[in-house]
Amino acid sequence: MSRPTPLYFDYAATTPVDDRVIEMMLTCLGRDSHFGNPASSGHAFGQAARNAVETAREQVAQCVGAQAEQIVWTSGATESNNLALKGIAQGCAQPGHLITSAIEHKAVLDTADQLQQLGWDVTRLRPGRDGLITPAQVTAALRPETRLVSLMAVNNELGTVTDFAAIGEQVRAQGALLHVDGAQAVGKLKLDMRTQAVDLMSFSAHKAYGPKGIGALYVGERALPLLRAQMHGGGHERGLRSGTLPSHQIVGMGSAFALAGQPGDAEYLRIQQLSQRLHDGMLALPGVRLNGCPTQRIPHTLNLTIDTPGFNAAALAGELAVSSTSACNSASQAPSHVLLALGLEPQAARNSVRISLGRYSTQAQVDAAVAVLARVLGAASTALW
Ligand SMILES: *Cc1c(COP(=O)(O)O)cnc(C)c1O
Repeated sequence: MSRPTPLYFDYAATTPVDDRVIEMMLTCLGRDSHFGNPASSGHAFGQAARNAVETAREQVAQCVGAQAEQIVWTSGATESNNLALKGIAQGCAQPGHLITSAIEHKAVLDTADQLQQLGWDVTRLRPGRDGLITPAQVTAALRPETRLVSLMAVNNELGTVTDFAAIGEQVRAQGALLHVDGAQAVGKLKLDMRTQAVDLMSFSAHKAYGPKGIGALYVGERALPLLRAQMHGGGHERGLRSGTLPSHQIVGMGSAFALAGQPGDAEYLRIQQLSQRLHDGMLALPGVRLNGCPTQRIPHTLNLTIDTPGFNAAALAGELAVSSTSACNSASQAPSHVLLALGLEPQAARNSVRISLGRYSTQAQVDAAVAVLARVLGAASTALW
């Protein structure tokens, strides 16, 4: 198999698994490892696997400021979002009011559509041109019958940050619950479930240098009595999510979250500098604009509209591994629902790319990426004459 282009700028779509995480995963795979079924409590093989799983649960809890027993393993943030929304909806005596936004991940948007079909009243808040959903917007939309608010911490296409802690205070004052999709937040925002007013939060390992196919849902004490399982079987995870625990995936997620770091640490500052360099290089090129709020954002993700005649976003992705539409919508060629919600024209949305940086990004790669875009744009504008 040939190695794909070395210029990987799509960390927001997925990350490679960190070598240290791979090593941990191997301790739960082979016959000389803790390969046992974590539910086989009657023998040493099961107990060793169980211990590995519980250590990982502690690591994830520690990373997000939760208690270990508040972490429920799932197959990823898609499942966590489904469990949170459908699970709370089922726990309510009758359909109520759900607030979400037009720029959520499809795993929330499509689930909200399902709840609407079951009789829920759904408000989809629209962001301003800056891509932000504000606490004031949420407050204005809250009603006595609002049961649940679901908003993302960091937008996966824009990198903009929602002030979810302030929103959570308002939501709780109204007696509703706040679910936050935190798939893009780990290692990038300070997360502390003890002090932030969040009732449910979704996580995914593969956005944070862990393996694909494993995630978690944080379930706080206000949400627990209402949450109903969506996967029934052996009663694993205290009945909230049945199925044999994938111990190798789980220890992978645990060690990835233990390595995640946080804002202000050396790795975060390194990404910040690289991002500034990338931003300055790209925005100096003709017709390039930044989408989303320039300040309330993580440095890792930049979304650019490239308004140069002849520019083809999909062609750029052949040379530079960026997203021309969100990978999560890749089944359709439709322009990004996020960019359309910001008010971009469909053609401008099609001429947009998401460039995201991560742990293995280097300054040489950033400079090469700027050079590639400069060349593509040079070619695009000369092609016109
Ligand atoms: C990637 C992503 C998801 C889906 O996570 P999976 O673990 O791939 O199912 C959900 N929400 C956001 C914001 C994401 O970035």
